[in-house]
Amino acid sequence: MIYCVEDERNIRELLVYTLETTGFSAKGIDGGKELWASLKKETPELILLDIMLPGEDGYAILEKLKKKPSTREIPVIMVTAKEAEFDKVRGLEAGADDYITKPFGMMEFVARVKAVLRRCGQKNSEDRMLQYKELCVLVGRHEVRYKDVKIDLTRKEFELLQYLMENKGIVMTRNQILCRIWGYDFDGETRTVDVHVRTLRQKLGEAGNYIETVRGVGYRIGG
Ligand code: CA
Repeated sequence: MIYCVEDERNIRELLVYTLETTGFSAKGIDGGKELWASLKKETPELILLDIMLPGEDGYAILEKLKKKPSTREIPVIMVTAKEAEFDKVRGLEAGADDYITKPFGMMEFVARVKAVLRRCGQKNSEDRMLQYKELCVLVGRHEVRYKDVKIDLTRKEFELLQYLMENKGIVMTRNQILCRIWGYDFDGETRTVDVHVRTLRQKLGEAGNYIETVRGVGYRIGG
């Protein structure tokens, strides 16, 4: 989950839309108040943080995020209206991982998001564990266990399962899966996804039933 903190509705919706079509799940947030409320319910993988916000501005929010033990580790990309507005030294010293200047191309935006997630993922993925009922994915160790018995998966099957587990309760479309796991950004070839879901289900045995087919849409774990 990626939080997009931005008070301008058009930009906020564009960010969320771009991330979702690239295979991420994203949530638009209009300011500090909504951010603090959302963080109580869920910890995102990344926060995109606009600087000019009504109420608390981006710098103040960043400072608070970095002070709290529960939010300190969340990577932050600052989003700024123009180069001059962003005090790079101030932002980066305060713990921002990167910054993007508006207007930005969507390709560049997605590339930066991925780069930050990759860098931060290496730090945090060692002990990350995803769980649904008795199915466990140990991300850093690339290990899957059901009822504490290890299940061997291919790399793509593992990534597919990890992706569904990271988005528990959300239907992921075939295109989103294709995009995220295989890196395709075009429609079609969605049979690849179906084939891998089939072999993944077989290998998971009983736990294969956790993967639900949502007809005409895609797949989900945890309805
Ligand atoms: Ca703004």
